[in-house]
Amino acid sequence: MDLTFASITDIADAVKSKKVSAKEVAEHFQKRIASLDGKLNSFTSKNEQAIKEAENLDARISKGEEVGLLAGVPFGIKEMFCTKGLATTAGSKILENFIPPYDATVVARLKKAGIVVMGKLNQDEFAMGSSNETSFYGAVKNPWNLDCVPGGSSGGSAAAQAARLVAGTLGTDTGGSIRQPASFCGIVGVKPTYGRVSRYGIIAYASSLDQAGPMVSNVKDAALTMEVMSGFDEFDGTTTKKPVPAWSKNLKADVKGMKIGLMKEYMSGGLHPDVQKTVENSVDSLKKMGAEIVEVSVPMTEYAVPVYYLIAASEASSNLARYDGVKYGYRADFKNLSAVDLEEFYGKTRGEGFGKEVKRRIMLGTYCLSSGYYDAYYNKAGQVRRLIMNQYLEAFKKCDVILSPVTTAPAFKVHERISDPLTMYLNDIFTTSTNLAGLPGMSVPFGMSQDGLPIGIQLTASHFEEQKMLDVGYALESASSVKGAKPHVI
Ligand code: GLN
Repeated sequence: MDLTFASITDIADAVKSKKVSAKEVAEHFQKRIASLDGKLNSFTSKNEQAIKEAENLDARISKGEEVGLLAGVPFGIKEMFCTKGLATTAGSKILENFIPPYDATVVARLKKAGIVVMGKLNQDEFAMGSSNETSFYGAVKNPWNLDCVPGGSSGGSAAAQAARLVAGTLGTDTGGSIRQPASFCGIVGVKPTYGRVSRYGIIAYASSLDQAGPMVSNVKDAALTMEVMSGFDEFDGTTTKKPVPAWSKNLKADVKGMKIGLMKEYMSGGLHPDVQKTVENSVDSLKKMGAEIVEVSVPMTEYAVPVYYLIAASEASSNLARYDGVKYGYRADFKNLSAVDLEEFYGKTRGEGFGKEVKRRIMLGTYCLSSGYYDAYYNKAGQVRRLIMNQYLEAFKKCDVILSPVTTAPAFKVHERISDPLTMYLNDIFTTSTNLAGLPGMSVPFGMSQDGLPIGIQLTASHFEEQKMLDVGYALESASSVKGAKPHVI
């Protein structure tokens, strides 16, 4: 069995039927990480216990014990997720020494299903960024071209998965952080409906937008991983009690009679020609497979980027207030602590602990939430957000799934945009409205640029309609001409 390119299902089946041991699988990927990650910087830390944990699983299988759906599948986990006993930094200096005493709910569920955590994955600091360049732990490189960014904020997850350093990864998506890096690195990334997946134990960025999801090699693996992650959690009041569908079993590449919406606002030009071509090809494929193409319109998406940045920064400024150097995390060095006043204590600690982009967001958010400006900015943004959602719901009366580009262009070069925040923010033009409306969204690889960089297609469905979206993704995957293409790093 070629473990490197095996699917999650294949690995779990092989481990359960003892064709291969979980230990062999873990050792295989450990070697890949050791030999390839020097070029990518996708891992921030490794789980020293991985082999031992795999051995324990093998022992349980030998005894005939029931093991889960993901038995022995090696996973990498984004730094945003609390992992018991493993450093969880959120890509920031301020959490450099933080070792959580508990697992995030989704991590606990995946572990219960049998995954072996290989390590933690690099990301933009507090998931603020679109290139993985804001990480305190250094930039991540795109395995398809080491001069390019892998996208962000889940850049480590996307790069590690694309280079097959693991069989599956987890990411978080507040404004596109799963879908955009998935597109840039040629993997499948899914952001479930807001409320589908527990946020408990995930470092909070913007709580009304944050959602976790799988970043994996194919649509079926994504569906399966989501099944394990999803569902009500008593520790997150925003999780739904709706039952979790058997997405992976129900998956069908059949789009006959389905209505695919093309959003007028996202198709109005300005796309890189290779992205334009990929979108056109995907639409042609779906038509050939019997789908009906309809035009839909969500005019308020014009405001998605400013609305997103107002809401995300406001919530972040509140969420990040907890990093004060008192209870946990980084504390500035004070020669005589008893002589320091509180303001100086906070100021120095936070000044040294946070990076430039995070500080920018905290300042912007604090300003938006200040009395006198709250109504003009935060409240107004909330109202526009509601209108965006309403218009989406109208659009979904006319179609099952909306198809669009993920980004205007393929992966950009390292250093190209980092000094210009506005250009960086505009990278999120097609992804943020999905989060604002709480909808499920995904990126599925479909094209390749002339320069050999992957291009994904974004699919969005109405609330809790992940199955329809996954089915269209599955159909596109089956029709994709880039299936099997490998990044040159491997
Ligand atoms: N690029 C966006 C931001 O910087 C989205 C990040 C995310 O989804 N976590 O906020």
